[in-house]
Amino acid sequence: MSLQEQLLTLHRVNTQVTGLRQRLDSAKRFLAAQTRIQEQVKQQADELHGQIRQLEASAANLETESKGIEERIDKLRVDLNASRNDKQYQAILADVKNLQQKRDEVDTQALAHMERAESLRSQHAELDAAVAERTTLVERAQADLDQRKADVGDRLARLEEEREQAARVLPEETRSLFDRVSDETDGEVMAPMIEISKRHREYACGACNIELPKESFAQLSGTGNVVVQCRACERILYVPVENEVAVGD
Ligand SMILES: [Zn+2]
Repeated sequence: MSLQEQLLTLHRVNTQVTGLRQRLDSAKRFLAAQTRIQEQVKQQADELHGQIRQLEASAANLETESKGIEERIDKLRVDLNASRNDKQYQAILADVKNLQQKRDEVDTQALAHMERAESLRSQHAELDAAVAERTTLVERAQADLDQRKADVGDRLARLEEEREQAARVLPEETRSLFDRVSDETDGEVMAPMIEISKRHREYACGACNIELPKESFAQLSGTGNVVVQCRACERILYVPVENEVAVGD
């Protein structure tokens, strides 16, 4: 086999491998994107949950504080009843009023925290539903990927083995050139050299249509042991068999 034939063998199997890999890759990318969104929603739900816990805790602390103040008020009421003169009575009464005011403030604050927690709880319920929805989407994406793996997995493994064998016979330099062009062209490494006009010896790249120097055709028509790249799209050129060339005059 000439270098050209070896390259074409590798090219054919490489195209198939790339096609199958792209099917898997797109499913993988979709799954990764869905998972990212699911994690974001989960994180929002967790953060909200943390805020609710904090509000509940501070509301509970305020309630304890309110009870403490209430107890002090009760004690002062006892003192009030036992007061011996008006001056003492008025002083204790002022303390009671102060404490009552403080207790009311604490109660108002506790209520505000509980109301805020309540509203966050309903937001949290919505986020929980969103998390469940997102989880379903992730599961579907995973199932789709698994299905595709099941569909193409064996074939892909076989083709990758074939690709490996086809690549192994090539010189190191040609192999790395092939891989590089494959990465840049989504696996469309080789392009036919199209004969635009036999009479005028005009040729074009079958992939990007740029006109190619006739020297390239001469090079490729020789032993077939050269590598010629398109000067525009960098694909490796080949001369197609005669019946595929029927283009031009
Ligand atoms: Zn080209």
